[in-house]
Parts: sequence; structure tokens; C-alpha cells
Amino acid sequence: MSEAVSTTCPYCGVGCGVLVSPDGSGGITVKGDKSHPANLGRLCSKGTALAETVDLDGRLLQPEVDGVQTDWDSALDAVTSRFERIIAEHGPDAVAFYVSGQLLTEDYYVANKLMKGFIGSANIDTNSRLCMSSAVAAHKRAFGSDTVPICYEDLEQADLIVITGSNLAWCHPVLYQRILVAKKNRPAMQVVVIDPRQTATCDIADLHLQLRSGTDSILFNGLLSWLAAQGATYQRFVEQHTQGLEEALQIAQWYAPSPRVVAEHCGLDEALVQQFYDRFAATQKVVTLFSQGINQSTSGTDKGNAVINCHLITGRIGQPGMGPFSVTGQPNAMGGREVGGLANQLAAHMDLDNPAHQELVGRFWQAPNLATSAGLKAVDLFQAVERGEVKAVWVMATNPAVSLPDASQVRRALERCECLVVSDCMATTDTIGYADIKLPAQTWGEKEGTVTNSERCISRQRAFMAPPGESRPDWWMVCEVAKRLGFEGFDYAGPAEIFAEHARLSGFENQGERDFDLSGLSDLSVAEYDRMAPLQWPVRRPGQSRQRLFADGHFYTDNQRARFIPVTPLPPGQLPDADYPLALNTGRVRDHWHTMTRTGKSPRLSGHIAEPYLAVHPVDAQHCGLDDGQLATVSSRWGEAILRVNVCDTQLPGQVFAPMHWSDHFASAARVGSVVNPLLDPYSGQPEFKHTPVRVTPYRAAWYGFLLARKELRPRQATYWSKAKRYGLWHYELAGEAAPDNWAACAREQLGEDGDNAEWRELYDSTQSTYRGARVVDGRLDAVIIIGADYHLPPRDWLAALFKKDRLEDAERGRLLRGTPPKGQEDAGQIVCSCFSVGVNTITKAIREQQLMTPEAIGEALNAGTNCGSCVPELRRLIAEVKAEPSA
Ligand code: SF4
Repeated sequence: MSEAVSTTCPYCGVGCGVLVSPDGSGGITVKGDKSHPANLGRLCSKGTALAETVDLDGRLLQPEVDGVQTDWDSALDAVTSRFERIIAEHGPDAVAFYVSGQLLTEDYYVANKLMKGFIGSANIDTNSRLCMSSAVAAHKRAFGSDTVPICYEDLEQADLIVITGSNLAWCHPVLYQRILVAKKNRPAMQVVVIDPRQTATCDIADLHLQLRSGTDSILFNGLLSWLAAQGATYQRFVEQHTQGLEEALQIAQWYAPSPRVVAEHCGLDEALVQQFYDRFAATQKVVTLFSQGINQSTSGTDKGNAVINCHLITGRIGQPGMGPFSVTGQPNAMGGREVGGLANQLAAHMDLDNPAHQELVGRFWQAPNLATSAGLKAVDLFQAVERGEVKAVWVMATNPAVSLPDASQVRRALERCECLVVSDCMATTDTIGYADIKLPAQTWGEKEGTVTNSERCISRQRAFMAPPGESRPDWWMVCEVAKRLGFEGFDYAGPAEIFAEHARLSGFENQGERDFDLSGLSDLSVAEYDRMAPLQWPVRRPGQSRQRLFADGHFYTDNQRARFIPVTPLPPGQLPDADYPLALNTGRVRDHWHTMTRTGKSPRLSGHIAEPYLAVHPVDAQHCGLDDGQLATVSSRWGEAILRVNVCDTQLPGQVFAPMHWSDHFASAARVGSVVNPLLDPYSGQPEFKHTPVRVTPYRAAWYGFLLARKELRPRQATYWSKAKRYGLWHYELAGEAAPDNWAACAREQLGEDGDNAEWRELYDSTQSTYRGARVVDGRLDAVIIIGADYHLPPRDWLAALFKKDRLEDAERGRLLRGTPPKGQEDAGQIVCSCFSVGVNTITKAIREQQLMTPEAIGEALNAGTNCGSCVPELRRLIAEVKAEPSA
């Protein structure tokens, strides 16, 4: 085993440090880096399973032009000539880049420099637009700069943490774990969760405000009024360091004059609102952590400002244990913001519409053609592509055909696009299928660069594997095209040189009037860059890093005063109506990431939730005629998806929830983006992923089934399918609208040709329209298929576990077609603890029989929950369920 390489996890914005040890034959082991300040050695389930995601399956390894594999020179010449022609004929705004928070800062920097400085258009936007652009806009309005004032340690030092619009336990699990431990050590610490859903994060909540979706501005306006009324205003801070309180307060008092009015609007109990307000007013050290539930809204910027207003009036900012805290979704969303990767930013936190900034950046880059007005933001960009106004797009490291709202519109745009270039590490994304030119990109573990996490901490991502095939880093591709276009200033020897230039620009004529400043890193040698330890910006001098900003009360507005923003609460862009009576909310599940191109490779991660689902409150399920476990069509004015119904009371009535991860690669019709409305926040351009009016109807198929097989297959005759990779097998869920004439033939057709040693067990019942078949090859289970006329089918987990065995026992063979274990064996059930593969049935039985009444007791008995801790909220839920069982 080689020496461990220190790098960072490629998933969420927590930015955990990992130590990776290659085994010399393509495999790796991964553990948390105890020296990294973000995680201090912890990892969540996704980080822990990284070793299962580094194979070369599905990789794009060779450039392709118009469907023909070619070499790099030809591919780059093709990109250059097509972009050049379109720019010559239609101007620079006819081309665009759509990039990603998965890129490294160095990739981002050169892409932005090429588009804004040299091509002369600001048409470069990023998928971070979908995630946190409302927080950026809110920061800029309040602070005059896009500054996150806080650090992770503040979460441990706070006496009250307000978590709003974030299922932190699943989406930023290591931050959640840090809070959990802090609360255990200091039980007086209070946690308030504000969320229309009862999520795993509520497990640590002293107070959960399950407010009506979209009413956050009223709740925080009410808090502002209450703080003023209770004398909680920090008068000296407000007078010396802020402006605009009176107007903001007037509006807040008008819309939210009392906890009673707030409670009515938000659908909350008045006493709960009162408790929240009292705790906030009485506690000095308060952190308000906000995320996509605030940002992904047609009034997301206002909601962010409503939160920030409450910290400004109390002066709770810039000091240990306090401040507003926007957590970012992606590993390098912050790096993208730093280089100006959004269509309305310039570079190094400078503004496109500021003539002094234009002049400065233009001079620094020696840019011949600097863009001076904002480009098209993500949703507008793909609408312009469909209209034919933008004719060439280069998509880097993202999958807009799945992830953007109204995703079917995006597909029409990609189809229509005259020249679509996609640089990606995967050959099979939903987007790359439309590409005219495919460029094989290096991925995590192969490329070198930096990322910035949610607390402004810059870390090196380091390579630990040789790049496969012809794959290259994105920065190299961009620079090669820039040089071919005849531009100077793109001749970099490597990412260290790019980073140094990025650092120099941040400090260029910056006398402290711009927040983002890496002057202290401008002269890093390649060796120093390689060794660079994590550090938080600003870094004005070598070795000088800052945990918090605004401690001195100086902000980056013209008069250095922070601005209160008056917030007029607005309803969601479209309200449910008679045709579409429910509101769809979308988000993440615990063990998957984005469109699953990486996590979909991991059997460990797919064991937790193997199929796309729709969470529905029992009252709505009854109205819609839905049963738990059946399939349903969820449709909006923009599109539809077919999902498995999960009836649960964690939803409020009137609201349904679906995860965002499933693409056409993993399911036939589960792209939730195609259902989501494309309405936008007017300031940030961020789409409203949290609120789309929908209707839900039962999906009635003629047959339902599941298939477990060692080989990856193409489901046939199925109008619905989803697939998940599990240990030693692929798991398919199936349904078909037309009943097969011959059930056995239908089943066997799914599985393909039998080998010589295939041995079949089959059961067909024509009266019940059921077919069950199992194929055993050389004593090992090779495939099981079970089809029935309804969706009540045997459990899958015991059958799936048999695929780990080299030889089936006779008793197991005898039970194959029933799908239940023989006496003496257990069906572990759906995986709860991914790290140790512990299933729900095993845990529930142990709770009952061994009286395990704490997650610690379960951990001692079964190991579950003792590694990453991501499943601890589910362990608590299972304990509560067992406790609630009627005694025998
Ligand atoms: Fe990766 Fe999990 Fe850390 Fe996020 S919390 S960076 S997904 S290990």
C-alpha cells in the first residue's frame, strides 16, 4: 500500500479532508483526515463509501467529434472552429459555458477568464445557481460582498443553533455530527429546526417549527419585530455599523406584528413561535444556518435577508459562536463564487457592473474584450438555447438534462443546440448523449487543484491515481481552446500557476476594500502549492488566515455599513389549485449525490434507498387513492414522473416530497427536474425547486415485478423500471402496462440467454397471474425474477443477500420462489446502517429482544451507527417505533 494522499471528499460543501491509500491495483482505502479542520477525521456514509466509486465503468476515455472517436488535437480544433464561426457570425453572446461546483477553482478560473475577458460575453453560469445563488445575492445586498462571516467552530460555540431550510443530517452530515457532539457535551445548547418536513435533522431539535411551505419571511420578519419590541436591539452596533433598520422594521411590523399573526400565516402553534422568539431574544451566541430550503424559492434572496436582518439588529455577527451561515451544497460552489463563475459576477468577488472593477480586471488580464454586462443565468441560458439565440454551449462536469427545472425544456434546447460540447468523466450521462463533441475529463483522484468549502476554507485536492485513457483536466482543455482562438495569457504550466494568478488578481490594487484577498498566496512555488495546508481566506499575508469576518463592524458597502433589507413576504411563484392541488418539494436522500453518476456505482450507498419515491401524507394519500408501496404519477404543468409512494406523516398535508437524484440512467421516468417549475427569484435567478403545484394519481400497471441479477440488463416490456447496484447484483423494480401473453417468456426475456449450467426453478399461477423464477448457475444464485398482478411482492433483501454466497444451501433453494428465509435464517431487511450493512429487521428485532433503548446500545450490539453516524436519527426513529408498539 502506498503512502496516504491527503485530499478532500468530492461531494458536499462541508469539504471534509480524506486520506486515500491506493492499493496498487486500482483500488483505494479512504479514511477521514484527523488534521483537516472541516471534519477532524469524521466522514459521512458517502465519504466512507468513496472507495466503491473509483472504477472505470462507464468512463469517457477518448475524445469524440460527431460520434467518431478522435485525438485531442482534432477535438480541440473542432471546438475552436465551431465556436469561432458562431462568434464571427452571431457575436460573442451566441456562445456560452455552463459549468459546475464540481470543477476545481483552477478550472473555473480559466473558464471565466476566457469567456468574460477574451470571448467578451458573460455567458458563463454554473449549476451552483441552482443551489446557493440566493444566498450570494442576500450577502451582497446586506454586506456589500459575498461574504460568509462564520466558521464551523462557531457551531460548537453557539448556545442556540437555528437550522432553517436544511436537512443537515442528510445533506451536510459531518456538520450535523459536529453539532450533535457539541450538544452532547453541552446539553444546555439549544437547536431549533425550521422545516415543513419532519426530517432526520429534527432528531436533535429542542423545537421544531413545521411551518407552511414558503412562509419563512413572515417568521423572520416577525422575529425582527419581536427583537425590536423586546429591547434586544444592540443599539451601538446598529447606530455605528448598519443602515436601514427603520424601513426594514416598518415592513416587518406591518406584515408580522405579533407571534399570533405569524403563527396564523405560518400554520404554527402560537406558543411555539413565542418560544422560538424568546429563545432567540435571550441568547447572545446564536448561529442561524440556512440552505436550499431558503435559497430555492422565488423569494429566496429576500428570505436570506430576513435571516440576516435578525443578526444585524442584535449585532450577532463576526464574533465567536454567532452569525448567519449559508451552507453550500457542492464541494466547490464557494470556489466558483471566488473566481466569478456566476453570469452576474466578474472575478475575485468583483462586480460586472462596476466600471472601476471592469477596468481593474481588464488591465490585470490584459483582456482585449472584457464583458461589461451580466450574461444569461442557468434557466434563461437554456431557454435562449432553445430559441436559437445561443448556438454553442460547452457544458463542463454537470448534467443539466436532469438537474435543471423544466428539464424536458432543457432537452429540447440541447437537441436544438448547433454545437454542444460536453467535457465529463462519464460517457453515459443524460446530457452527454446530446453532445456533438465529447471531451474526456479527469475526475476526483486524478486531477490537481483547490476547492473552497462553506466556511471559506481552501483545501488542495490531490491526485492519487493515474488518469485513465486520454482524460485531461478541464483547465487544460479550456486553455488549449483559448490558445487556438488566438488569445494570450493561457499558457500555464499547471494548476499551481493558475492558482497563483487567481491569488494575485484577488490582491491586485486591493487596499482592504474587497473581502476576497489571497495576496499571501500569490508567490507560492509549485512545491508550496503541492504542500498547501487547508486555510481560510482572506489570506492577506503569508500564513495569515481568518476564521471570522466583520468582527470590527466594517462591511464592504460604500459607507462600510451593513444594510438592513426590507422584506415584503411573497407567496411561492405558483400556488396549488384545483388541477394541481399539492405542492412538490424536492431534495436529497442520505446516501446519494446529485445525479448519481458517482454514488450510483456504490452498492453500499444504494442499499439505503434503492428506488425513487414520493413521500405523501396519509390524508393526501387517501384523497388521491394511493396506498403505501404502489406506484404513482406525479404531474405538473411542465412534466411528469413515476415514483413509488411512501405514505408517511413526516410530510405536512398538502405537500409531497421527491428526491432529485434519479436520471434516465437509473430509472425510466423519475427525473423530478422535469416536473419542477422554472420560476425564478428576481435577484438571484435561482429556481423554485421547493414548491411546484402537482397532482398525484395512482399508476396502474397490468403487472409489477422485481428482478435481481448478477449482470446489468436492459428491462424489456416494462413501462416502469428503476435500477440500483447492490453487492454482487443489479436490483430492478419493474412494471408494465400490457400483460404479457406468456409470463415465463416475458421473465426469461428480461434475463437473456441461459448458459450451459443454468438450472431453473419456476412457479406460474395463471389464476393469480404470478410468475416466479430463479436461475442458479454452478450452485450460485444467478437471477431471481418475481412478477405479479399487483405490487404486493415478496421482500427483496433476503434474496439480495443470497448473491453474496458462492453456493446456495438446499434449504435456501427451497425458499427462493417464496423470497423468505428458511428457519434459522433472517431477512435483515432494508439497509439502515450503510457502513456495516445492518438492515431494519435486524435492528428492530434487537431493540425488541435486547431492550436496546439508545443508539449507543444498538451500536454496541450491532455496530450500527458507530462509524459515520449518518443513520443515528433512523436508529432513534426505530427505537421510538418499538416503544410505541402495544405491549403483548
Ligand atoms: Fe463528503 Fe460527507 Fe464530508 Fe460532505 S459531509 S464532504 S459528503 S464526507
